[in-house]
Amino acid sequence: MRANSLVELDRAHLVHPLASYRGHEAAGVRVLSSAKGATVTDAEGRELLDGFAGLWCVNAGYAQQSLIDAATKQLSQLAYATGYFGLGSEPAIRLAARLAEHAPGDLNHVYFTLGGSDAVDSTIRFIRYYHHAIGKPEKDQFISVESGYHGSSTSGAGLTALPVFHTGFGVPHDWQHKIPSHYAYRNPVGSDGETIIAASVASLRAKIAELGAERVAAFYAEPIQGSGGVLVPPAGWMKAMHAVCKEHDILFVADEVITGFGRTGPLFASAEDGIVPDFITAAKGMTSGYVPMGAVFLSDRIYDTIADGAGDAPIGHGQTYSGHPVSAAVGLACLDLYENGLLDNGRMAGNRLLEGLYSLADHPLVGDVRGRGMLAAIELVTDKERKTPLPAEADAGRRIFDRAWANGLIIRAFNQGILGYAPPLCCTEEEIDTIIDRTRMTLDQTL
Ligand code: PLP
Repeated sequence: MRANSLVELDRAHLVHPLASYRGHEAAGVRVLSSAKGATVTDAEGRELLDGFAGLWCVNAGYAQQSLIDAATKQLSQLAYATGYFGLGSEPAIRLAARLAEHAPGDLNHVYFTLGGSDAVDSTIRFIRYYHHAIGKPEKDQFISVESGYHGSSTSGAGLTALPVFHTGFGVPHDWQHKIPSHYAYRNPVGSDGETIIAASVASLRAKIAELGAERVAAFYAEPIQGSGGVLVPPAGWMKAMHAVCKEHDILFVADEVITGFGRTGPLFASAEDGIVPDFITAAKGMTSGYVPMGAVFLSDRIYDTIADGAGDAPIGHGQTYSGHPVSAAVGLACLDLYENGLLDNGRMAGNRLLEGLYSLADHPLVGDVRGRGMLAAIELVTDKERKTPLPAEADAGRRIFDRAWANGLIIRAFNQGILGYAPPLCCTEEEIDTIIDRTRMTLDQTL
């Protein structure tokens, strides 16, 4: 089928995520047709370096034979097995066990989902259930962080603190509350790490006091805020927030949907942050985006309390595809890759990426460079001294994205003039250098 007719079919029938539907119809879809390693080829044969690993997920790179083999083998052996009726499949059981080995502390129990949004949604339900089980049903208020993203399910979208996910949807709900972000580049308290941490601690304490600790069920944070513009907290921020939650008997959820599976270096950023949260949510890199899968990690205490609270009664939470054997088989093959060099390569490539992005700091448009591992951003300004953002136009991001695309590079261009980077962890040094060269070219054309 020719690309032109695909564009027409797309326009007529396919509803895209997070798109201006009319804007998308006018622009027309760009069809991707194949990919290998970190290179994607479009329907017209144009080759592009994928500096965003699809949507921060293709950590292993495209066309990894071991992942393809794992999926193919599992498809022919046992294409589906439910976890209902006391049934299960070997890949789901083995993946849960191996993930538990890698997860921080006593996060020994894994509930599989289809992706990140339903992982977050599942935590909300588990947390409510837990508090009922311990006789504190009044603990039903949830706190998250401005600029945070926790998916777009009906409940999770309200923990998300990006207005586009709220407008017109009737969220957040009245049980969902926010504290200011740690966003260092544009923080009213300044950019000093200790000061930012102190301000966040004070905000969280104030919010808890306002709601009453006895009402607060849980606090959600990403180790690095991704969709909010790759906002990296000062070292120690997660630990400080975790300590406040512990002090007030509030459950702590680390949303590692992006940061999990090597994106920041280790398998879980929480380990590097030195915390054992009550829950971790993960997805994306778990299967490297080859097949859908997410997970909720529950601590021993949470799992046992829920289990004992229910006694013999079933716990009414489940999905048809929880623990899908094909996804689990791919997850196991991904773990093999992470354990056998992919994490190490990601660390090497991450250092190179940050070095490269810092080398752009002298560009007249670059106001800020930030990142950890293979998760990074540059923030563009028209006046460095005043940190003047690029003119706020609805399609500003799209225009930078288009320029990068024309230069053979895929990055995420946020409308605030933030360029996000999350390349596959398998990138070579040469590929990282090419990402940087093409970024510089794109910036020069944006001047
Ligand atoms: N949580 C975080 C931190 C995310 O970054 C995302 C997606 O980017 C989600 C949740 C939602 O995941 P999904 O898009 O798989 O539903």
